Amino acid sequence: MKKPLLIGVTGGIGSGKTTVCRIFEALGIPVYSADERAKWLVDHDAILKSDVTRLLGSEAYDEAGRYNRSWVAAQVFAKPDLLLQLNALIHPRVHADTELWARGYADKPYVIKEAALLRAAGEDGNNLDKLVVVQSPLELRIHRIHQRDPHRSAQEIKNIISRQISDEERIEMADYVVYNNDTQLLIPQVLRLHEAFCQTGL
Ligand code: ATP
Repeated sequence: MKKPLLIGVTGGIGSGKTTVCRIFEALGIPVYSADERAKWLVDHDAILKSDVTRLLGSEAYDEAGRYNRSWVAAQVFAKPDLLLQLNALIHPRVHADTELWARGYADKPYVIKEAALLRAAGEDGNNLDKLVVVQSPLELRIHRIHQRDPHRSAQEIKNIISRQISDEERIEMADYVVYNNDTQLLIPQVLRLHEAFCQTGL
């Protein structure tokens, strides 16, 4: 069955992933928000629910079957191994879900998977054909996040950034970089990518 190319869009917190994806959407390109979808799957995917329950115990879900997010966060906090195991359950389900979703868009030249953390295309058996990294200067990211989420302090934002992979590591994995700063316009950069992805040779 024909399947569109799958293009990953990633970047650090506040780099402008969602903004870039909105431009792709305006061009008619479907966007899969992996982080939001992962949350939905943890709540609704029967296979994942039973795997998570096996890993963490029945308290992972309440009596109505809803995911007990804060309880789980407390369990995996400061237990990186357990967090890795939990992520190892979630990732294959998101992978399978993305494949199914992408197959629904056989008429499109490409579709987009957006996530805060994506690996280089093809790494660890992921299903990406190319990876786009959105890059933005640290101070600008802190400023934009602070404006978007006034409840977050500059220190809290810096803490999140320090837990994410570095800009250098991200750029290393990128097939394409979109620069979201005060000097380069976003729309022409996204239009150039759109043209490249529409010509199947990339
Ligand atoms: P998160 O990792 O928190 O999901 P993100 O990488 O998706 O963030 P966005 O939500 O797209 O980033 O951008 C962060 C904030 O900065 C938003 O309020 C957005 O409107 C604003 N912003 C992003 N890019 C630009 C730009 N080029 N010009 C003006 N504002 C921008």
